[in-house]
Amino acid sequence: MEEYDVAVVGAGPAGSSAARAAAERGARVVVLDRAEFPRYKTCGGGLIGPSAAALPGAPPVRASVTRLDLTLRGQRRRARAAAGSFLQLVARSELDTWLLERAVAAGAEARLPCRVLDVTDGPDGALVSTSEGTLRAGVVIAADGTSSRLARAAGVRLSRVDLGLEVELETGPTAAHWAERVHLDWGPVPGSYGWVFPKGDTLTVGVIAARGAGEATRAYLRSFVAGLGLDRLRVVHDSGHLTRCRTPDSPLGRGRVLLAGDAAGLLEPWTREGISFATRSGALAGAVAADGAAGALERYREALAVDLLPEMAAGERCLRAFEAAPGVFHELIGSTPVGWRQFERLVRGETTLTRAVRRRPVRAGLRVLQSVPGAKAKVSTGSQGPPT
Ligand SMILES: Cc1cc2nc3c(=O)[nH]c(=O)nc-3n(C[C@H](O)[C@H](O)[C@H](O)COP(=O)(O)OP(=O)(O)OC[C@H]3O[C@@H](n4cnc5c(N)ncnc54)[C@H](O)[C@@H]3O)c2cc1C
Repeated sequence: MEEYDVAVVGAGPAGSSAARAAAERGARVVVLDRAEFPRYKTCGGGLIGPSAAALPGAPPVRASVTRLDLTLRGQRRRARAAAGSFLQLVARSELDTWLLERAVAAGAEARLPCRVLDVTDGPDGALVSTSEGTLRAGVVIAADGTSSRLARAAGVRLSRVDLGLEVELETGPTAAHWAERVHLDWGPVPGSYGWVFPKGDTLTVGVIAARGAGEATRAYLRSFVAGLGLDRLRVVHDSGHLTRCRTPDSPLGRGRVLLAGDAAGLLEPWTREGISFATRSGALAGAVAADGAAGALERYREALAVDLLPEMAAGERCLRAFEAAPGVFHELIGSTPVGWRQFERLVRGETTLTRAVRRRPVRAGLRVLQSVPGAKAKVSTGSQGPPT
């Protein structure tokens, strides 16, 4: 049987980052993905500062963003401009292929397509059964995304699951308008929002809201697209995908298995930003796994507790306040210099949500917003309609 120090399941940002980190430390690594690459992945492809900083070099970027249009349920348009680029946009098929190539360049072996069917723990290693046969690994990193069967087996618990819906549209004659510009809309379903992210010849237009509001979420996407006059553009892709957030006590692995990225439910709850959580948790899991199975889970938990777990907790507080009072967030970012500056710094990675919510005025503001009596109910009952 083939033997590896580390087997990585899934070659998204979490898996390829894990494979690269483990291979760079001299481990024998195999990375397995059920899909042939390049493969399509439903995602805005927004690369915030911490995501870019966690990458091994300059990725293939489709657009750099200097301008932001903001609306609240399609109304109250506010326009913001930055001195330089504050966000980069990528096509996930290109980013993920590039990341996998970096892992292979570091010495990892890639097997695609190869579906992992099961992992069983044993004293000499984990047995990884796949569509192409069985192999043995000292540590398995499960980076198999939101439908992860290994996460289910490890007993992952989720505090929140959202449904994201996206269409890719041919940019056509709108290209000049969308050059360097993104649009964000705070949506009608509590906690929801929508985006237009330009990628050169295509525009990614999407919305995200709590799973369970399927029809309202579909209606939101339809009216968001139509409200911006984008419904006359040709649809190149139409898809949906889940995002998920772990509970604070959810397992980060079990036995010889470490969970990374979406599989672990590692995601920033307010913006549902997941690429930086995937690359950073993957890299930490890979580094820990290269040192062997003994104590790996505890070392991994400690490494995540430095930045990523506090950042999730801060994002959760922001999400609760945002659900209660999206209009306040809208005016803060759209109409006040200090709010816009703070938002821009967060997106650039010059500060973090953890640091932001530690500041006394921010803490007090979030507390007030969360305690507005009936604020959440008012938003949810008063804004069921699509944006106009
Ligand atoms: C609509 C939407 C928009 C988003 N927009 C953004 C954004 O703009 N910016 C941002 O930072 N985040 C965004 N996210 C979140 C981001 O897409 C995810 O957090 C990120 O992709 C997680 O990476 P991952 O490597 O954990 O999982 P994935 O990227 O999902 O990779 C998992 C891989 O595992 C493979 N796999 C699954 N099962 C098996 C198996 N049994 N055997 C072998 N391989 C398997 C899959 O083929 C896949 O390649 C968005 C999410 C959604 C749904």
